[in-house]
Amino acid sequence: DSKDFDREVESVCPFCGVGCQLSFKIKDNKIKYVTGVDGPANENRLCVKGRFGFDYIDHPHRLTKPLIRKEGAPKGLNVDPGNVHTHFREASWEEALDFAAKGLADLRARKGTYVAGFGSAKCSNEEAYLFQKLIRQGFGHNNVDHCTRLCHASSVSALIENVGSGAVTATFNEIENADVAIVIGCNPIENHPVAATYFKQFAKRGGKLIVCDPRGVGLGKFASHRLLFKPGGDVSMLNAMMNVIVTEELYDAEYIAQFTENWEEMKAHLAEYTPEKMAPICGIEPEVLRDAARTFAKGKAGMIFWGMGVSQHIHGTDNSRCLISLALMTGNVGKPGAGLHPLRGQNNVQGASDAGLIPMFLPDYQSVTDDGVRSAFTSVWNSPDFSNQKGLTVVEIMEAIHAGDIKGMYILGENPAMSDPDVDHARAALAMLDHLVVQDIFLTETANYADVILPASAWAEKTGTVTNTNRQVQMGRPAVTPPGEAREDWWIEVELAKRLGLDWSYTHPKEVFAEMKLNMGSLDNITWERLESEAVTYPSLSPEDPGQAIVFGDGFPRASKRARFTPAKIIDPDERPDTEYPFVLITGRQLEHWHTGSMTRRSNVLDAVEPEANCSMNPATLRRMGVEPGDMIKLTTRRGSVDVMVRADRAIAEDNVFLPFAYVEAAANILTNSALDPFGKIPEFKYAAVRVEKA
Ligand code: SF4
Repeated sequence: DSKDFDREVESVCPFCGVGCQLSFKIKDNKIKYVTGVDGPANENRLCVKGRFGFDYIDHPHRLTKPLIRKEGAPKGLNVDPGNVHTHFREASWEEALDFAAKGLADLRARKGTYVAGFGSAKCSNEEAYLFQKLIRQGFGHNNVDHCTRLCHASSVSALIENVGSGAVTATFNEIENADVAIVIGCNPIENHPVAATYFKQFAKRGGKLIVCDPRGVGLGKFASHRLLFKPGGDVSMLNAMMNVIVTEELYDAEYIAQFTENWEEMKAHLAEYTPEKMAPICGIEPEVLRDAARTFAKGKAGMIFWGMGVSQHIHGTDNSRCLISLALMTGNVGKPGAGLHPLRGQNNVQGASDAGLIPMFLPDYQSVTDDGVRSAFTSVWNSPDFSNQKGLTVVEIMEAIHAGDIKGMYILGENPAMSDPDVDHARAALAMLDHLVVQDIFLTETANYADVILPASAWAEKTGTVTNTNRQVQMGRPAVTPPGEAREDWWIEVELAKRLGLDWSYTHPKEVFAEMKLNMGSLDNITWERLESEAVTYPSLSPEDPGQAIVFGDGFPRASKRARFTPAKIIDPDERPDTEYPFVLITGRQLEHWHTGSMTRRSNVLDAVEPEANCSMNPATLRRMGVEPGDMIKLTTRRGSVDVMVRADRAIAEDNVFLPFAYVEAAANILTNSALDPFGKIPEFKYAAVRVEKA
């Protein structure tokens, strides 16, 4: 009913990487409700987060003035977000920006690389680009990272190594042209709900859906094959499936000969991974492994989708190497209905990574160690060269603070005091900093440690482009004005940069986008003006081309033009259950709550549906322990303990615990293990040994 609103603004959902287009319906500068729009990824569909997760922007906890910590106010999780004046005093923008910049500049003036930055996948492409530029140009090094490190860093590492590019080879919508698909280590019905609708339709049309996960995820109900493997058993399971494909000669010899390298080594490596040998390790019967392998290999076109269940292990890169090899040996890259698709978690984690918000790469994954690459950027930036050393990653930065090597941070939109593994260790690091600048919309757990807080804009309040899991670049538009003195993130970055002595004069994000295009071939043929009227998938081959849904049909962007098989051996999780910690802890997300909960727990509908910290265990395990669903239990790992309400859920294997990480009162990351995958530097969120007791 058009009487419900005065105006409507089309934009993109701020939550998951699906990148649904939506329309904000606005009355009196308030969003009243949201409807779906016919975007390329969602075709009018929205999930509960997109539809109802908008009113956090009006929450009374919004930061509306710059804040400076009061002299002597202790750092720690001790500030009521509704009454920040106990620890902070209000400041003008001028004073707060001067103070923020001076603290960082003082550290810059000392010997060493004492400053690090975390940007955010919640921000636009332009804001991500500016953030990495500010650290590199302003401080001369590459200590800049963001939540991709906790997300798909291992997948990207394997993809760059073996196919030459970290992005998906096909959009998820290509499943419409597939006849078989593997969905592994993810729970799309809860975490990528609109993508899941396409997967369900595929299965209902008769597509063979092979769902592999230690949890009985909801998509399993639609599966032709359901492989509930043991946590950490991925490499053994996937190697066994590939062993079957080799032994039974189900591979695509022609594709392998034309487009790949290292096949003979791969075949030799797989010989020992027979289904019989792997079954006890992965927990899947040999005949089930054979059936799944035959089904995938015999399909005409197959896709592979994966999520954090694959990536968040110390062997996360090996997991992805296996999935890449499985696709390559069956010829399932570069044709309709085929491809590799790590489902991106956050709405702009693809775009923020593309924009160079990572310590080893400049925009478009161009290496910081390459002199020519750095020179191309410094000539556009009109600035001297910066370090040719890869910077520190998220978890490494926390370690460097403890070691005294990092003393100041600029954190924009990230919440490491909730999202980092072994989070008490990370919180202790934040408390040690001499100078912490936090830019956010709420007093997050991380902002509790800040010396100065810069009030930013929510997604619905600003202009900028974002790039979804499908490589689709889309325009975000402001629906309402920010509250009080809150400002758009790009404006704050520019003002801070100027005070750090940088010659920045941007007056609109489109000027930043124009600069990005100068050194980002991925944006060829994509202009701000185009994005104002249409979404464009990169690569786009001409100003009229809506973009390539499928890539690498004629070779790979590697020196040899061929994709590579990289064998993966079985590596045990960093810690295994023992008598003291006998269960396995798996962390993740729930449908209603987004990451660290700062937005969705302040959205009325979402918070009403899922208001309380909870974990899930198998009913048989609970019966054995004499615990009733709804009871409080204590979870303890080698890092710490939390008390949390337990639910019975048959989808969880016996002696496993699933704990969402959105709840500060039972923060899952107090328990998680910070051991890292050596390639992607991603922590092992998906496996910790845990003790369970009645609370
Ligand atoms: Fe938003 Fe993702 Fe839901 Fe789409 S599927 S509405 S992008 S949270």
